Amino acid sequence: MTVVHGPAVPAAGADLSVWPASATESRPGDLAVGGVPLTEVADRYGTPVYVLDEAEVRERCRTYRATFPDAEVLYAAKAFLCRAMVRWADEEGLGMDVCSAGELEFAVAAGFPPERMVLHGNAKSPRDLETALRLGVGRVVIDSPSEIARLAAAVGPGRRQKVMVRVVPGISAGGHEKVRTGTDDQKFGLSIADGHAQHAVTRVLGQPRLELTGLHCHLGSQITSVRPYVAAVRRVVGLMARLREQHGLVLSELDLGGGHGIAYRPGEDALDLTALSRAVRAELADACASAGLPVPRLAVEPGRAVVGPAGVALYRVLAVKRSGGTVFVAVDGGMSDNPRPALYGVRYAPRLIGRRGAADPVRVTVVGRHCEAGDVLAADAELPADVRPGDLLAVPVAGAYHLSMSSGYNLVGRPPVAAVRDGRARLLVRRESMEDLRARDVGL
Ligand SMILES: *Cc1c(COP(=O)(O)O)cnc(C)c1O
Repeated sequence: MTVVHGPAVPAAGADLSVWPASATESRPGDLAVGGVPLTEVADRYGTPVYVLDEAEVRERCRTYRATFPDAEVLYAAKAFLCRAMVRWADEEGLGMDVCSAGELEFAVAAGFPPERMVLHGNAKSPRDLETALRLGVGRVVIDSPSEIARLAAAVGPGRRQKVMVRVVPGISAGGHEKVRTGTDDQKFGLSIADGHAQHAVTRVLGQPRLELTGLHCHLGSQITSVRPYVAAVRRVVGLMARLREQHGLVLSELDLGGGHGIAYRPGEDALDLTALSRAVRAELADACASAGLPVPRLAVEPGRAVVGPAGVALYRVLAVKRSGGTVFVAVDGGMSDNPRPALYGVRYAPRLIGRRGAADPVRVTVVGRHCEAGDVLAADAELPADVRPGDLLAVPVAGAYHLSMSSGYNLVGRPPVAAVRDGRARLLVRRESMEDLRARDVGL
């Protein structure tokens, strides 16, 4: 954008607590992010469009590094991935955590150093493992017994691959049943309680081409309390102590995963990172001292908390109707660009943008344009009663797990991503076109 905007005043009375720090009321009823009015972004790129505040992403990376000064901070790429995001994570000194050959190869092609990357996955394909070895990924996280021999066999002669073993500590935490991964009744990791974790470690140690550097544990997502992390540290260090007794093994790394919760609506809790860092460090020091173990280096893997609050989704209202006592506000996107409400019942706080509503707020259901009754973007949202077709809606906290989970449903085309910074907007990812959709259809 060639226009550079002057200083704006903070939005009077508006609760911008879940918006990027740069959000200001640029003129009555409009909001600017990164110094760019959102109405201008919508005019320039069309809707739906995702807006990413570069300074907010970078600031969140810096906060992690400052809050966990001795730890390795790995950005979980599955939350949101594009070339710019790869560069920002690299420049801010983060590592990266990937879950597939695709994410891995994309990030490396965009210039990310593979040795600072960790590969996860409960079902790694031959291509995942081959790509990890070919590109020289830093560590592979073992998630199943069968993977151990498979990976070892794929490592070239005279070479060794660093690995961690993902353990399940038996701790229930996380914002929704579908994102809890710390208990024995879900598909990820190897249980500490039933001995599978210990057994896997023994098998790894029997493979000369694998070098076990540590244990990994990811409890789930959208966790807002430090307690489960502290409990996890205690159980994982307990396992480390048993492994030292059994094998004389001293592990140098403890990766505590991610899952750090953020607020999606004003008033919701976010995980306190300073409290997390303090509590985890204290517990790690204490548990290791009791067990007579050296303190391993900590790693954390935030995805959502790095990029979620930096993103805003913009939609155009296409229809408003009242049915069965509910006001439905239908927009030009929906579950194809944000499946999270349908998957996990997530709630958002959309705002009318571009004009001040002339009527008091009413409770509405913001729905998408897709052919599913479950295509709800924001249940129980508050919008001015005079909301009408043509209005713009902005949904904050849209940076994580929206576009990375987007689909081609109804051939609507996935939205573009624009970065905003210092009063300028630029396109990072263009809108998916009819050409893109047709290009893959190669038969008759
Ligand atoms: C998804 C995932 C993360 C990131 O989770 P967030 O909730 O985005 O912080 C980190 N580590 C692993 C292993 C994951 O699967």
